[in-house]
Amino acid sequence: MIASNFLNLITKFFAPPYCAYCKTFLSNETIFCEACFSAIKPIVSMKLAITKSQTISVFAVSGYQDPLKRLILAKGWSKQLASTHMADVIWQKTLLPHLSCDFFIPIPLHWTRFAWRGYNQAELMAARLAVLSGKRMINALSRKKMTQSQFRLGSNDRVLNLENVFSCNEGYKNCLRGKHIILVDDLMTTGATLKSAAKVLFECQPASISAVVTCRVI
Ligand SMILES: [Zn+2]
Repeated sequence: MIASNFLNLITKFFAPPYCAYCKTFLSNETIFCEACFSAIKPIVSMKLAITKSQTISVFAVSGYQDPLKRLILAKGWSKQLASTHMADVIWQKTLLPHLSCDFFIPIPLHWTRFAWRGYNQAELMAARLAVLSGKRMINALSRKKMTQSQFRLGSNDRVLNLENVFSCNEGYKNCLRGKHIILVDDLMTTGATLKSAAKVLFECQPASISAVVTCRVI
């Protein structure tokens, strides 16, 4: 809670008063100007098969294109604000407010990458979504091994790259049974990351797993 209050405070005092895409001056606390906000082209949700009998629904705001692509690629300090903004857009532009949810679970970074970057974008987004929805964010997953950047790999290699990458943290295993889980990440490319994470979480027998991402490569 303290972390999310702090995040709110940061957003309030450091959010630049201009559109995150076209830099038009804004008089109210929004992310994009009206023109850029309405230029976000929504896409339908999709089903991702995890096992033969289990699927998850993936909700994305749009394809991987501007103006949201700009937020995902934002560098440095503003990237933390960008994460909050992305969560706000997800909340406004997807069906997320109508989904059953007990826990938001962010896709984790490997600890070495976290140490280097200092934050996990997916975690900041999940924390913001927890504030907006009144639900809890839990760091139930760990990333066991370093993976190569998915962008440089072919689709077969991506699946291999992400096999057995995640594990469910001991303390959370029992509390996920019968619960509605929503995975959070900034970008979905092939879906290999979400698949790998959902596979591990299904072992805890939740009632459902869905995923929300800002953009999905189509
Ligand atoms: Zn704009």
